[in-house]
This record gives sequence, C-alpha cells and structure tokens, in this order.
Amino acid sequence: MTSRLFPLFADLRNRTVLVVGGGGVARRKVAALLDTGARIVVGASQLDRELEALAAKDRIETITGDFVDAWLDDAWLVIAATDDAATNHAIAAAAESRRIFANVVDDAELSSIHLPARVERGPLQIAISSGGGAPMLARHIREQLEIQFDESLGALAELLQRSRARIRAKLEDLPARRRFFDRVLAGPIPALLRRGDTISAERALQANIDSASPLLGRVALVGAGPGDPGLLTLRALRLLNEADVILHDRLVSDDVLALARRDAELIEVGKHVGGDHHATQSAIHRLLVEHAKSGKRVVRLKGGDPFVFGRGGEELEALQLHGIDFEVVPGITAAVACGAYAGIPLTHREHAQSVRFVTAHTKGDDDIDWQALAQDRQTLAFYMGVSGLERIRDRLVAHGRSANTPIALVENGTRAGQRVVIGTLAELPELARVHGVAAPAILFVGEVSALATRLHWFGAAPLQGLPASARDAALARAA
Ligand code: SAH
Repeated sequence: MTSRLFPLFADLRNRTVLVVGGGGVARRKVAALLDTGARIVVGASQLDRELEALAAKDRIETITGDFVDAWLDDAWLVIAATDDAATNHAIAAAAESRRIFANVVDDAELSSIHLPARVERGPLQIAISSGGGAPMLARHIREQLEIQFDESLGALAELLQRSRARIRAKLEDLPARRRFFDRVLAGPIPALLRRGDTISAERALQANIDSASPLLGRVALVGAGPGDPGLLTLRALRLLNEADVILHDRLVSDDVLALARRDAELIEVGKHVGGDHHATQSAIHRLLVEHAKSGKRVVRLKGGDPFVFGRGGEELEALQLHGIDFEVVPGITAAVACGAYAGIPLTHREHAQSVRFVTAHTKGDDDIDWQALAQDRQTLAFYMGVSGLERIRDRLVAHGRSANTPIALVENGTRAGQRVVIGTLAELPELARVHGVAAPAILFVGEVSALATRLHWFGAAPLQGLPASARDAALARAA
C-alpha cells in the first residue's frame, strides 16, 4: 500500500511560524496564518509593501537577510516561499534535521507538511488534499463545497459551539448526544439560521436541550420477514439504517442484515438446537435492557413477524419491567410469505374458509386441539415442523382428516434456494425424508397445497410425491 498523508489541524496560538520569502507567495501564506494566533516571523532580504504594512501594525515580526539555520531556533513550523530553489532546499534540509515541519511552496516532495485547500464556515473548516498529486482536483472540489455549504453553516457551528458545555452536561454519553444532534440537524434550526434568524435558532436549540433525556435508549422489535429483503417494510429499513445495535436471530437472512447501518453492532442471539432456550431467552432480555439503558437505539430483529411464534411478547414484557421505551414493526410471517412464493393461496372460496398458524413445537399433545385442527375446509400452517411430521400426520388422520389431504412443505421460502415439496398427508414424513427437507421449512396442510403445481412462479417447480412403491407403503401405514 502506498503511504498517505495524515490530516491534522494545528493549534498555532503563540507558537512561532517562520515564513521565508518576501513576495506574493509569502504574503498569501502569511494571510492564511493571520487568524491562527501564531507568532508569525517573516524572513527575507526584502519585503513587499503589504508585508511591510503588516510589520508596521505588529501583525508580523521580520528578519532581514539571507536564510540561516538560526532563523529556525523558535519555530514549530516553517514555510519556504522563496523563488530560489536552492534556498528552499536548504530550508527544508535544516528543518528536517531539527524535526520541524516544513512546507515548501509548490514542492510536494520537499514538504514534510502540506497545506490543504480550505473551506471555512465560522469555526468549521473543511480541508481538502490530494496528497500533492492533483492540486487542481482539490481546488475544484473546494469550489463545489463552497457552493454546497452556505455561510449559515458557520452560524450553526458557532451556535453548537456556544451550547457545547450545556449539551454535554445534559447528555453525558456519546450515543445519546449523537441522537440529539441527528434530531437537531434534521429539525428547523439550520433553516432558521439560513434565514439569519439566530435568536429563534438559539431558542429552538435550548428547547431541544431542555427536553433531551439522557436515557433515550429504545428498542424496536422489528419483523425482518422471511428472507427476501424486498419484503421488509419501509419502517424496518429506516430503523435498520438508524440502529446502534442490532440483535438478530439466526433465521434473519444475510441479505437483510446487509441493509443495516454500516457501523451498527450486530449481535446474533439465535437459539441453537439442543441449547437451553430459557437461558438464551433471559440472556436476550439482559442484552436488550443493557443496550437500551446505555442510551442506544436497539433493533431486535426477528425472522418473519415478531409476534408470530417469535417470543416478541416476552421480550416486550422484559423491557416494560425496566421502563424501556419500545415500538413494534410487523413483518411478513413465514406462512403468508411462503404461501405467496409457493403459489399456495392460504384461503380459497372452494377449498378453505380459514387458516390456522400452528406451532408443531410443543412439549406434549395436551397443548394442541387436534380435533379442531382435523376439521375440513381449513388450511393449517405448521411452523417449526420438520422434526414432528409423523406425529402431525398420525394425529390429524386419527381425528378424521383424510389421509389424501394435499400437503406442501416449503423450505427456505422466498430465498434463493427455495424448495417446495407437495404430496398427501399420508406420505408426509417419507416425503420430507426422501427430499431431505431441512429447517427453515413450513408445512401446509389442506386442499390449497395442491394449487402450487399450477400457481408456482418463484424458483424451481415443486417436487411432487414419492416414487410409486414408497407411496403404497405410506398409504398402507396411514390406513
Ligand atoms: N416469527 C417467525 C416464525 C418463527 S418460528 C415468522 O413470523 O415467520 C421459525 C419457523 O418459521 C421455522 O421453523 C419455519 O417453520 C418458519 N419459517 C421462517 N422463515 C421461513 C422461511 N424463509 N421458509 C420457510 N419457513 C420459514
């Protein structure tokens, strides 16, 4: 890698800066130094009239004669602005041996420090450097910035400078201050200053400071949808762009995470198979509370919708217990998204008048009303079902649902690798096994599942049924 210049802003107050040269170039450098508070010493055999005038007004001190090393005795910085290359060389060499930074006008090679092109707005300065390689480009960019940033930016910088101590006293931690400034800069204050109404701007800022709370950390419980980032809501996207911290499940797709603010802290809090869910859940509660209490904007990002088998309710209760502000952003839940992307309408005038979202992940049978689930003319969407398929089939058939009821398994719905497997309830477990269906997958039971053969539009065509021999065996077993 090539080395690059390191930008610095120097405090030159009461520090000696030596400018060697008495002509127009030296004069321009002196002019740039005048408001820094530096002690400016100009050394030259002859000074032009303007420099003489500055000396007469005690704005600069002068030394007359040819450069000698001793001129550098008090200097922190030297600018070689003579029209004699040999003298400029000698100055650079002398400065180098004394470890004094030197700028040699129009000679980037000899310079140990470069003077940038500048845009100044009150206390705010924008410095531009091309590393000496393309000064015209730096100048061009400066001109563009001059147009882009009007003079009121200086007033804004001054206003914020005047209020700095008050703001810091009110908001001690950095994320809270960052949020405060985001709000102030997006509000009416810049426009007030552009109109020259400093008094109103000052008042508005004070009102902002008065109402600012140091504990403004809040949590947004956000549904990330099933995986395709196009299915995020606009609000989810905005919150991802603003978040300081994002706690996400493993289910949330990389494509969605890629939309998060670049310097947001991403924390995966997925539950691992066989892990202690209770411990994981309380660890999540702890993390949410800690980050929010430190004033951060926290996004708790969950696959699908946060209130559909997402334990979102429990997390909100934990936040409420600690008095932490929250909001909830719904997401497209897996049943809805997978139905859409597999060509399975969840309800249908001819086949299904209702749809039920069911979790197959329960401790015992007591939790599930199989009698109700076995009713005809409804669609069942089983979440987290991949491992309990045998039980689902057996219970539904035992409670009267036909073994011939169409089913569909949608794996990785809406994502690049989406697979849809369709068949009948009788052959369900074998189907999953033969096709190696893995999580995340959702199971649809009901006549509408068969429509995927005709209505599929996304990804590969559905895989259908079992080989004939396996089917007969499956039917016999279910009977
Ligand atoms: N809150 C989530 C569900 C969490 S439970 C939602 O509203 O979608 C996790 C289960 O959701 C998975 O086991 C699977 O059954 C289902 N699921 C989530 N995303 C899925 C996807 N992209 N494709 C298929 N099933 C998915």
